Amino acid sequence: MNKPVFDCRMCGHCCEGEGGIILGPADLQRLYEGLHLERQAFLDAYAVYRNGKWQIKTGEDGNCIFFRAGKGCIVHAVKPNVCRAWPFFRGNMADAESLYLAKGFCPGIRPDATHEEFVAEGEAYLHENGLIASDPVHEGHALLPVSENKSSF
Ligand code: SF4
Ligand code: SF4
Repeated sequence: MNKPVFDCRMCGHCCEGEGGIILGPADLQRLYEGLHLERQAFLDAYAVYRNGKWQIKTGEDGNCIFFRAGKGCIVHAVKPNVCRAWPFFRGNMADAESLYLAKGFCPGIRPDATHEEFVAEGEAYLHENGLIASDPVHEGHALLPVSENKSSF
């Protein structure tokens, strides 16, 4: 049996730069409760409203405000669903070319994983962890199913 298609190497690449990490309603609640803050205090300190959705702020170092070099994500236990779902994003699930590009960015994706293997493991992982979005207005598009006409990706 092949190794899993994804095994995070904790390199931090996906937390660097302006990530555009969307915060859906469940993410917001998990984060402000996890940080023991009121909703508004959390939004003021850590979020920015852009293009109709809440996103995590970028810190002064240009990375996600919750990322610390050498330490990683300081909100790991309550991190947003898009962070939990990577690399099984909609684009990578839909398109082998996107997966190829993702492999160049993320060393955690097994280089020889086929798109079919990736989709099969991704579907199972996203379903098991409740990471499929149903609210395109507030949640990240990366979490939406590839086709609304299919029961799965
Ligand atoms: S880029 Fe990939 S391997 Fe690196 S931390 Fe992110 S998910 Fe893990
Ligand atoms: S919330 Fe955590 S996992 Fe997500 S981008 Fe920020 S540092 Fe990375």
